[in-house]
Amino acid sequence: MSSFRDLGLSEPLLRSLDEMGFEEPTPVQAQAIPLLLQGRDVVAQALTGTGKTAAFGVPLVERIDIRRTSPQAVVMAPTRELAVQVAGQLSGIGRHRGLLLVPIYGGQPIDRQLRALRRGVHAIVATPGRLMDHMRRGTVDLSRVATLVLDEADLMLDMGFLEDIEYIMSHLPSERLTALFSATMPEPILALARSYMHEPEILRLSRPRALTVPETNQIYYQVPFRRKLDALCRVLDVKQPERALVFCATKRTVDDVVESLQGQGYMVEGLHGDMSQPVRERVLRALRSGQAEVLVATDVAARGLDIPEVTHVVNFDIPPDAEYYVHRIGRTSRLGRKGEAITFVNPWEMREIRVIERITGARIQRQEVPSMAEAEDREAQLLEERLAETLSAGRWGRFRAMVEGMLVDHDPVDVAAAALSMVAARPARAKPQPATLTGQATPIEQAAPTRKARPTRKASPTRKASPEGKRRRRAV
Ligand code: AMP
Repeated sequence: MSSFRDLGLSEPLLRSLDEMGFEEPTPVQAQAIPLLLQGRDVVAQALTGTGKTAAFGVPLVERIDIRRTSPQAVVMAPTRELAVQVAGQLSGIGRHRGLLLVPIYGGQPIDRQLRALRRGVHAIVATPGRLMDHMRRGTVDLSRVATLVLDEADLMLDMGFLEDIEYIMSHLPSERLTALFSATMPEPILALARSYMHEPEILRLSRPRALTVPETNQIYYQVPFRRKLDALCRVLDVKQPERALVFCATKRTVDDVVESLQGQGYMVEGLHGDMSQPVRERVLRALRSGQAEVLVATDVAARGLDIPEVTHVVNFDIPPDAEYYVHRIGRTSRLGRKGEAITFVNPWEMREIRVIERITGARIQRQEVPSMAEAEDREAQLLEERLAETLSAGRWGRFRAMVEGMLVDHDPVDVAAAALSMVAARPARAKPQPATLTGQATPIEQAAPTRKARPTRKASPTRKASPEGKRRRRAV
């Protein structure tokens, strides 16, 4: 199947997909769309980034009777971010069909949702808790729902939504189409499918033994606990990621890493569950617009977010298990692009990385943390590139007289080298944290208890780099 037209979609949908820049169906779309259009229930194992939203979104929109403005489709999503993203993509897909939909999630004034429901909608994208609120208040009529989608079903179960989901499913018309999308297929998901779905077709788009994609170069560094921040800076300096996601085990670690990196001049933002909705939205905007290049996040905060073009995923703290690993690194190498996943492993976490390898069927190669010399080489290379660009742009004429004046007393090579060293001292990118280079412990060591970290150490505020350290590092 090579085009959306071959899938037999209507003209309004083909137009929308074209406008969204979707040229041809991804594998999950090519498989799931025809089945769902035929009215078959589908259970699909597909990671974020495979195009799974449109895989259920396209048939969902096609099945809507536009003349009837009562909810005919419900999508359940684990977090409000995901609900908002799914709603955004469904709106795009349904633009030329006149689709009316409302996202329903906690943390948003309920009045707005009530107004939208009263005006009439075709589809609802909801987090389970808030949808149940509306059902109990009698403010939503689900008696005509003909399509139900559970998106990121395994995460919803992880987050303790099983009872809510069962409540909602048992209150929907039994004559309906149900699609379940999940990154992993543990037994509770299959049990849910058995109980509430009608002979579902099971699509395993990523096989259990190859849960990760070959486009992702997977490596790990053995990094002692106290050198993790230093290693992260090296990674950012040497790899120069276009956009990176850094995963930490705790909110506290997120805050500490963000504070420390920002203090060193990196364009970085943090995301965790304690942040208000406006702050989370601002962070995502900064990342999308390129104002931030690095997002530091906890698993729950980052799950389901549609962040385009993540080139690097860094597991600052090793993920709790293989499923988390798969979710995290699924944020890179989307739609066949190349990406890199780097995991920091303490010596006592070696067994865990092996377990992850076994479960995912992936080969995670050990490499050494890039050395200071590599970071410096990379810096020199970037300086040279910037210098060459500046020379060809030619907007430096006003400095010529000054340089000519200096050449009376100095060698021209010395003058140019001194000028470069000044630029290197104020780079857009920052340098590894000086404190670690002098062999002292970083704040991370104290503030980031992963599951196996020494829990007796107390957290302390992030220490800023000492002026002496800065000078040492910058005298390149
Ligand atoms: P998802 O897996 O649904 O989170 O989709 C990942 C990203 O791929 C989103 O940014 C979509 O807009 C994009 N996308 C989905 N399907 C296609 C397609 N057929 N062609 C190009 N981009 C797509």
